[in-house]
Amino acid sequence: MSEFLSQKYSSLKEYVPGEQPQDKKYIKLNTNESPYPPSDKVLEAVTSNEVKDLRLYCDPDCNKLKSAFADLYGVKKENVFLSNGSDDILNFAFMAYGDKGATFADITYGFYSVFAELHGINMEIIPLKDDFSLDIESFKGKKKLVVIANPNAPTGIAIGLDVVEEIVKSNPKSVVLIDEAYVDFGGESCYKLTEKYSNLLCVGTFSKSRSLAGGRLGFAIANKALIADLEKIKYSTNPYNINRLTQVAGLATVLDNDYYLENCKRIIETREFVKKELERLGFVVLPSKANFIFAKSDKISGKKLYEELKNKGVLIRHFETERIKEFNRITIGSKEEMEVFLEKVKEILGEL
Ligand code: PMP
Repeated sequence: MSEFLSQKYSSLKEYVPGEQPQDKKYIKLNTNESPYPPSDKVLEAVTSNEVKDLRLYCDPDCNKLKSAFADLYGVKKENVFLSNGSDDILNFAFMAYGDKGATFADITYGFYSVFAELHGINMEIIPLKDDFSLDIESFKGKKKLVVIANPNAPTGIAIGLDVVEEIVKSNPKSVVLIDEAYVDFGGESCYKLTEKYSNLLCVGTFSKSRSLAGGRLGFAIANKALIADLEKIKYSTNPYNINRLTQVAGLATVLDNDYYLENCKRIIETREFVKKELERLGFVVLPSKANFIFAKSDKISGKKLYEELKNKGVLIRHFETERIKEFNRITIGSKEEMEVFLEKVKEILGEL
């Protein structure tokens, strides 16, 4: 840190992303990417002519992509906001709606507390129940920004649409942000409820179910006024926040939605297979509606399993947070990758 950094940032604890190692090839089950490549339509769309056009600025309104996206979801363009990954939207939402504070669970996406700190926002942290389910009643009647990941990360546990609606209804004076980064793996999206509730901000991403983590494309669906707020912040920070190639790739992605739905089905099947196999090995596996599972074993500590797997070329995500340090978050890769993962887990348990 330099002597010049503003004092307000000097104690900021930045977000630590999952490892993206460049040293050797791992089976990468640590950052919830898709094991499947973007569709052929995406590969065809990103042509050398598109690359040549990189000399020109991109369309700051993302008109083509936004129209196709709005058509896919059956909403109007004015109800859609696109961004450089959904982290961008979370950041904007904390900026836009956090002046009276923000509330979220103790075990959830780690970036929420970073954004709150970054913007000097008071946090009310609500512990998950003992079984890691959401303490629903505690999220009602707030007068501050409410943020819920559904399904939650890193637990994978989802709440139903009826519960989302209860929470949204009970918070008419505040924005309720539902972070649906993992909703396509068996959860229920709340985007249709945004027609009925002007305080609901539904946030999603192309990083997981749509195989575009490296392209950085996120979206929000909400009432026109909330979208206008986000646009105001975007145009006050970085209007060209979605680059040309990502706009082209995103459009081709939206136009080939069935390919991605099929991949989600495969991932869900693989998830259930891995869950059963780990349970046979004595693991506790939380019920997941995401493209990862959260699991622990009495036979080995969370940290040791993570380290041993890394030695054997398989990366999973370990968190040192006290309440969950015996667990690991394991992204669901392809069936073949998960078979290797299970083999390695068996080897490690056998070597104990
Ligand atoms: N929300 C949750 C719950 C996540 O786990 C992630 C991925 N780290 C994001 C949002 C952000 O994803 P992206 O910026 O790639 O859209």
